[in-house]
Amino acid sequence: GAAIDIAGVSKFYGNFTALDDVSLRVEPGEFMSFLGPSGSGKTTTLNLIAGFTDLSAGEIRLGEQSIGHVPAHKRNIGVVFQHYALFPHMTVAANVAYPLKQRGMPKAERTRAVDQALQKVQLEKFAHRYPSELSGGQQQRVALARAMVFTPSLLLMDEPLGALDKKLREVLQLEIKRIHRELGSTFVYVTHDQEEALVLSDRIAVFNKGRIEQVGTGHDLYTAP
Ligand code: ADP
Ligand code: ADP
Repeated sequence: GAAIDIAGVSKFYGNFTALDDVSLRVEPGEFMSFLGPSGSGKTTTLNLIAGFTDLSAGEIRLGEQSIGHVPAHKRNIGVVFQHYALFPHMTVAANVAYPLKQRGMPKAERTRAVDQALQKVQLEKFAHRYPSELSGGQQQRVALARAMVFTPSLLLMDEPLGALDKKLREVLQLEIKRIHRELGSTFVYVTHDQEEALVLSDRIAVFNKGRIEQVGTGHDLYTAP
């Protein structure tokens, strides 16, 4: 079955409809981008998948499970959201180890997993630094390492490169692509940048005004017939 099955989902804030009867299936191992202008419902959809917000109507299933009320950290989901800042009082290594500690992984195993994750984002030399000693791009790499250290089956990213300059964004896009291949997990990536969506994704869901207007490969969506 699908990794994510969103069926007839709506989200209302009072009288305002943020998401209007949205349906979408994301296949296991797929890299899916949510593309669309600001306010079109991308983040709302991601928050619903992550379980950070309750839906108003419809259903979301992750694998065989309805998301119901399983607490966010009990699900096998990694998140890199702009508001999910690093813990400033913890070193890079401690930040990355945090989700493993939450899951009760023994120390020796944890250390090995943290080392591997830091290698994947090329920050092994920064393990004992604090976030404030790192550049914005390095901090986002730490956030990425923290999100993938427990090899989540699903990785959710919300404009993780939005605050970075173009050159660094391109470097990190390649890293994210490589990590996707290595992990084999399902990735959902929110962006308002069409070029970024085209570079990264297997398929793109195009959001507009709380609806998904089109879903397809970059080739399907943006090549003239
Ligand atoms: P996007 O991620 O595409 O920029 P969002 O999903 O963040 O869009 O927002 C969709 C719409 O829902 C926007 O109009 C936004 O203002 C509104 N919205 C989001 N969160 C809330 C909230 N907590 N209360 C009221 N309105 C909200
Ligand atoms: P809550 O306090 O909502 O139960 P958790 O226990 O899941 O949240 O996590 C506590 C804090 O740790 C959260 O506020 C979040 O900032 C951070 N956190 C937990 N897991 C992650 C993760 N995988 N990536 C980033 N931050 C995380």
